[in-house]
Amino acid sequence: MSKGPVRYYARRSMTYGPGAGEPLDRGQLFDLAGMINDEKLIRLNYVVAAPKNVSIVQCGYCGAEFITDETLNAHGRYRHRPQPTDPRLQDEREDRREKLENELAPLHLDKTAASRGYARSPGR
Ligand SMILES: [Zn+2]
Repeated sequence: MSKGPVRYYARRSMTYGPGAGEPLDRGQLFDLAGMINDEKLIRLNYVVAAPKNVSIVQCGYCGAEFITDETLNAHGRYRHRPQPTDPRLQDEREDRREKLENELAPLHLDKTAASRGYARSPGR
């Protein structure tokens, strides 16, 4: 394994990075960019350091890297399949995704004030 800097993966889909940011999907590996919110993202469990021995799988379409086949497949279904054009179906799809992520990756909301209202896209 390389001894490069620790890589992180997103526990939930989010937007991260400078400017408008880049979309990250659940399980996607990325490098922290030294953003002002990095510490908060880690503290709230949005992102987690990838284990050194993680076996990385890569998306054949866009090259994004994931920590499991399951999250890679979810990424493929979400990003590389035709999206529903009906706004109602799009909403349902987003709701399903959010519900799934709430079950799979509950946030450490006890460490923040949910009332501050930054629960949705903290990586910006
Ligand atoms: Zn992809």
